[in-house]
Amino acid sequence: MHNWSFTEADREFIARDIEAFLPDRIFDAHAHLFCHAHFDPLPAGYRDMPARLDLASYYNFIDWIHPGGRTRGGLFFGLAFNGDRERNNQFVALEVRQSQREGDFGQMIIAPDMTAERIYQTVKDEGFVGLKCYHTMAKDCERTWAAPIESYLPEHQVAVAGELGLSITLHIVRDRALADPLNQAAIRRYCENYPDMRLILAHAGRGFNPWHTIEGIKNLRGLDNVFFDTSAVTEAGAFEAIIDVLGQERLLYGSDFPVSHSRGRCVAIGDSFHWIYADEIKLAEKHTKLRPVLVGLESLRALRLACWRMRLGAGQIEDIFYNNANQLFIHQS
Ligand SMILES: [Zn+2]
Repeated sequence: MHNWSFTEADREFIARDIEAFLPDRIFDAHAHLFCHAHFDPLPAGYRDMPARLDLASYYNFIDWIHPGGRTRGGLFFGLAFNGDRERNNQFVALEVRQSQREGDFGQMIIAPDMTAERIYQTVKDEGFVGLKCYHTMAKDCERTWAAPIESYLPEHQVAVAGELGLSITLHIVRDRALADPLNQAAIRRYCENYPDMRLILAHAGRGFNPWHTIEGIKNLRGLDNVFFDTSAVTEAGAFEAIIDVLGQERLLYGSDFPVSHSRGRCVAIGDSFHWIYADEIKLAEKHTKLRPVLVGLESLRALRLACWRMRLGAGQIEDIFYNNANQLFIHQS
């Protein structure tokens, strides 16, 4: 999955398709920081990555996909959901506290069995601005890809976020993602009951198959505290649907670093989706030689297409890349 390299194909792609589209200031609303040591065992796909992905290496490597030092801050969280998430949380908190940038913020990985008191105290002690849950920690679920939201983000945790005005980055699952009525109902209920909690639906509402977001987004109309990040989505349709139905003020650019630095893309197939990685496909096609680029670059091109098709102006594109996050995080601190 990872080869961790920057190629001539990436360089050409940025020059042709990306650079002129990028605003001068970028806030990355979805990026992971961790060390190999937080995992036991280390997942096979992570072996090619540097062993320590701290803020310094993030800023170093993110310049591969948005060059020129334009990345001004980010919302960072761990990745060791089923590894040593305590140490991963402490690592992220320390990195962010020690940062000289005013735009660097941390979210705390939460497991569903954590009490409200523990989350409250850890957020206060470590200076987190939000929470990050994940379905692989869902309780009482054999197949966590089908988990209802409540099984990995129980209500008492959302209540803490409401009380403290925290963000929650939520990667919904189940086959049809945002088109799933159970998911829609849980999102509505949480957002309505805890208006000071800000819910960020990761991956454009897990719109890896854009049709799921296109079909479901209208059911979130009227909610003031639901947002989406663009992370690792490489087709334009879900972005377009969000901009069209809720407005560009609800879409936050996110790289999903270090997923951004894997090579390939995700495509809709039938009613589902599939990840295609460069090292798993035959690059010598009949008509041409395939030159896959980094996922983060595919995602930026998809976002560019959505902005173009929705006729967004420069100021509205800046909303997605910076202003929306500025209002949510930088302005508040
Ligand atoms: Zn992620």
